[in-house]
Amino acid sequence: MQEETTCCIVGAGPAGAVLALLLARKGIPVVLLEEHMDFDRDFRGDTIHPSVMQIMEELGLADRLLQLDHTKVYTLPVQTARGTVTLADFRRLKTRYPYIAMIPQARFLEFITAEAKRYPGFRLVMGARVEKLMEEDGYIHGVHYRGQDGWHTVRAVLTVAADGRFSRVRKLAGFEPVKTAPPMDVLWFRLPRRQEDSMESTGRLVQGHILVMLNRGEEWQMGYVIPKGGYQQIHAAGLEKLRQVVAELLPEFADRVEYIKEWKQVSVLSVESSRLRRWYRPGLLLIGDAAHVMSPIAGVGINYAIQDATVAANVLSDDLRVGRLPLRDLAEVQRKREWPTRMTQGFQNIMQGQVLTKVLKSDEPLTISPFLLFLLRLPGIRVLPAKFIGIGPWPAHVKG
Ligand SMILES: Cc1cc2nc3c(=O)[nH]c(=O)nc-3n(C[C@H](O)[C@H](O)[C@H](O)COP(=O)(O)OP(=O)(O)OC[C@H]3O[C@@H](n4cnc5c(N)ncnc54)[C@H](O)[C@@H]3O)c2cc1C
Repeated sequence: MQEETTCCIVGAGPAGAVLALLLARKGIPVVLLEEHMDFDRDFRGDTIHPSVMQIMEELGLADRLLQLDHTKVYTLPVQTARGTVTLADFRRLKTRYPYIAMIPQARFLEFITAEAKRYPGFRLVMGARVEKLMEEDGYIHGVHYRGQDGWHTVRAVLTVAADGRFSRVRKLAGFEPVKTAPPMDVLWFRLPRRQEDSMESTGRLVQGHILVMLNRGEEWQMGYVIPKGGYQQIHAAGLEKLRQVVAELLPEFADRVEYIKEWKQVSVLSVESSRLRRWYRPGLLLIGDAAHVMSPIAGVGINYAIQDATVAANVLSDDLRVGRLPLRDLAEVQRKREWPTRMTQGFQNIMQGQVLTKVLKSDEPLTISPFLLFLLRLPGIRVLPAKFIGIGPWPAHVKG
């Protein structure tokens, strides 16, 4: 079966779902293709930053979004052997949303796609795996996908690859990302949270170990940062050894590490950081993780994916509404989004090299230089980490 539309988006993650909503509300016909049958995937990142809350407000959706079950992270404290340092305090930001809202990604995507369904030109197809591009004379005219009932074709003025870090469309279109090699991976697992526990999400940096603890209401979402490729060794040492390490790092949690009963409760994130030199070809645009995978430092992947979507809708809508797609529009999306992305990746590289690698390799307690501590207390400077993490160097706003 062949259908025609104006914009065909591959992948209903944060980038694809938000772009679909933004275009649909401008009256542009959109088909959104998602290979899974639902949005439920574990540990995919649930962080909605102040800049995304601002975008939601501009769409008139913020209050309803906050009715979904969520917790709020107001500060990012880091516990070291020499005391606690607050890396970022979002309460200092001039915004109605001075926090990171922790909303399960599946609920967020259901919310956004339900909103998009209110517009008649929008169609979401679940269980639709894109496997081929329609290409004529170097122009991408749409995709072929395998659905529940066989092969289908979507012909479109614009095809958007929002299909994530392992993007199939990126490969089919012949793009090769430039990769850097972050020195770590992350093991994610859950531990029960008790009423008497602190409310604060926090990170703990002690010699040779980094642990992140995120308050998820009834649970702690734990991120244990390990040296790159170190999972096999940890697995070989056995689950009891992992429980022991966690109990030593977090003596106050020693009585609940038994909750980790099997390896399937532990999810491994192979940390990657990459970017494309070019985000487009005639007829095709790549956004979100398909264009740039962000390191998990500061948890900005979702934030950047949604800001890409917002800028893409701002730049492309007027021409798309009349069925046009000049190449300069696609280049402008890249121009507006590439440098904030590269700046942040540069910052993440420095943090990885200067802080995380040192902690993971060191037998000494981490010391934070007195000069840095002094800087973090200066009124003009102490807001900068919160601004950089929560909002980013060039925040996107919804136009029109
Ligand atoms: C374990 C883990 C933890 C993370 N934690 C955080 C965090 O705390 N905060 C944060 O900001 N970011 C986090 N991230 C990163 C974040 O998930 C991504 O940056 C963000 O989801 C990117 O959004 P996206 O829409 O570009 O891609 P994705 O969210 O990857 O969405 C891509 C979508 O495309 C679909 N798809 C793929 N191939 C096809 C195909 N051929 N046909 C049709 N559909 C297809 C996929 O099923 C998926 O739904 C984490 C990532 C991982 C893996």
